Amino acid sequence: MKLRYTLLALAALAIATGPAPAVAADKGVVSITYDDCPETQWRLGLPVAKKHDLVGTVFVSTGYVGADPWCMTWENVADFKEAGWEIASHAVHHIEMYKLNDWVSEIVGSATDLMKKVGVAPVGFAPPYGEATDDHINFIREIGIYRYVVLESGDGFNALTGYDRYNLDRLAVTSAKEACALVQKAADEDAWAILLFHGIRPAKESPPDYELHLEIHNEVLACVAKARDEGLIEVKTISQVVAKECDCE
Ligand SMILES: [Zn+2]
Repeated sequence: MKLRYTLLALAALAIATGPAPAVAADKGVVSITYDDCPETQWRLGLPVAKKHDLVGTVFVSTGYVGADPWCMTWENVADFKEAGWEIASHAVHHIEMYKLNDWVSEIVGSATDLMKKVGVAPVGFAPPYGEATDDHINFIREIGIYRYVVLESGDGFNALTGYDRYNLDRLAVTSAKEACALVQKAADEDAWAILLFHGIRPAKESPPDYELHLEIHNEVLACVAKARDEGLIEVKTISQVVAKECDCE
C-alpha cells in the first residue's frame, strides 16, 4: 500500500513537473578527432595526448588496419581504446562513397570490423573526404548503428544544443593559431569546437597534403589542455556530447 502510494505520488509529481528540462551548457566543449588510421597518430600523437590527460575520437578506415604499413595495427587501435579514446568509423576503404555502388558495406562493414577486432560498437561515422549524399545520411539515420556523423573542413564551430548530430562540423587543423583561436571561441561562446587531425609528421619532414607537423599538433593539444586547466572549457569525446542530445546515454 505504501509503495503504491509512493508510486502514485511520483507519477503525480512527474505530471506536475513534466520532463526534465534540457540542462543548459555552462561551459564550452572541445572535441579532438583523429582520422584515417596513420600509425603516426599512435606513435607520435597518442603519447602527447596522454601527457596532457586528453582523450578524443579516432575515426578508423578499417580496411587498412594491419594491412597497410602506413596505417595502424589493431593493437595500436586497441591502445587508443585503453587510453579512453572513442573508437569510431571512417568507412572500410577511404573512397568517396558516391563513387561506389556498394557504399552500404562501407558503412556497415566498418562497424562490424571494429566490433570484431577491438570489441567496440562504434556510434560515430565520418564519411571519407567528408563526402556524403542525402541517401547516405538517411541510410545511416535509419540503420540504428550510428548516433552521429561528422563531416570535415568547415570552421569546426558547433552549437552545444539544438545541433544536427548527423551533420557535425570539424576544423581540419593546419595552423595552431587558427585552432587555438577556435578553442578560445568555444570558451567565450559556450559552444562546441571539433578539431580534426590527419597524419602527423616529425618536424623535419615536410608533410604531404592532409598531414601536419608534430609541433603544430603539440601546440594545439597544449592550448586545449591549458584552456581545460583554467576551467574555460571541457574536453569530451563526440559520443559523450551527443549522448546528451539524443538521450541515449
Ligand atoms: Zn579521411
